[in-house]
Amino acid sequence: MMISGHLGVNFAGHLTVSGVDTVDIAKEYGTPLYVMDEQTIRENLRSLKEAIDRSCKNGGRVAFASKACSFKEMYRIVASEGCGTDVVSCGEMYTAMQAGMPLDRVYFHGNNKTDADLRYALENGVGRIVVDNFDELRALEAVAAELGKTAAILMRVTPGIDAHTHSFIRTGQIDSKFGFTLETGEVYEAVETALSLPHIDLKGLHCHVASQIFDEEPMIHAAEVMVGVMVEIKNRFGRALSELNLGGGFGIAYTDEDHPKPAHEYMELVGNAVTKTAENNDFPTPFVIVEPGRSIVAAAGLTLYTVGGVKRIPNVRTYVSVDGGMTDNPRYALYQAAYTAVLPEKAAAEPTETVTISGHCCESGDLLQENVPLPAVKRGDLLAFLTTGAYNYSMSSNYNRYPKPAVVMVNDGETRVVVRRETFEDVARNDI
Ligand SMILES: *Cc1c(COP(=O)(O)O)cnc(C)c1O
Repeated sequence: MMISGHLGVNFAGHLTVSGVDTVDIAKEYGTPLYVMDEQTIRENLRSLKEAIDRSCKNGGRVAFASKACSFKEMYRIVASEGCGTDVVSCGEMYTAMQAGMPLDRVYFHGNNKTDADLRYALENGVGRIVVDNFDELRALEAVAAELGKTAAILMRVTPGIDAHTHSFIRTGQIDSKFGFTLETGEVYEAVETALSLPHIDLKGLHCHVASQIFDEEPMIHAAEVMVGVMVEIKNRFGRALSELNLGGGFGIAYTDEDHPKPAHEYMELVGNAVTKTAENNDFPTPFVIVEPGRSIVAAAGLTLYTVGGVKRIPNVRTYVSVDGGMTDNPRYALYQAAYTAVLPEKAAAEPTETVTISGHCCESGDLLQENVPLPAVKRGDLLAFLTTGAYNYSMSSNYNRYPKPAVVMVNDGETRVVVRRETFEDVARNDI
């Protein structure tokens, strides 16, 4: 049942977030609107950290994956839980810094960091730069030398593990734009190079197998392979690396058909695999970093829309148009991502028809979901998409010059705006 945990239905039959009526939230703040539950985010961070502490002999860190959801209040919440963050751009790094995230807990990713990006990261004292390729390694050495600094790095490894997920979000295989390939021996060449560069301090390795993984086997396998690589590096070069970043990817439920384990259960299995593989090889257990994005924020969020037109085409389909779309959630248009939709004013009502929910953009492909069972729906009704906390706000755009929705945080029965709704002025602010 998707309506569980912090989501409920009150005596009026309305959908609630931590007891707060979503119909009231929509009235107060308008639609389209992102709504997020703070306690859910905090509990997800804490339970993962506890699983790391239980299973990883030398401890570790949760580094929230910025790309899933990046705004200042998000970083404040993450930092206040003692966690760090990964960033893939200087824009994310800047936002994290502005929010007071300690830079030593920041991991800087990306397959194309420019010289300017590398300089920005070093000047601001970012904790670890996750080096993606040889060109970057040499460019970083040059920038660090110029600044008279040493760059602490992790090396991104592509371990060649197929996690059987959607090909658009699969990055662990050999055919990947990311990282140094393990199969070809490139990883060991890169380690040898890194160890020879005077302004590079190689701290450890990184990998990210895939996103939305439900099967623990590839995660455990990746952990074993990566510790094996660390052992091999020690054998070849006499250097025992001390940090292992295993990326993100813990799967979550978007519909009743999805049955993942809670992320902390995957974490415990992975952590145990790291500790055991290290001990079996007489290798010091590394400090383990994980970078979950989706599993921290997805379920904490929902999006509220108002229904506009309902177009019934007999024997074809019924389009239910809403006041948002690919501008606030491009994931269905991009890769047919599944979501659960409910009518907040009739959250307990039985479905009576199957509809297609379409967005407001001038684009036939702007659909939010097809084959959605809904109770009778009409213009003016509220409609909610559940599980939109990850990769929705962060992927939003101003296509068709729609202002981006606000983000409202629910905590302890109170609501507050954490990202203001854009205005028309915002949309045109850079136009000369
Ligand atoms: C996307 C990504 C993550 C986060 O993935 P989730 O599936 O959201 O947990 C973490 N690390 C890296 C390098 C990524 O590319």
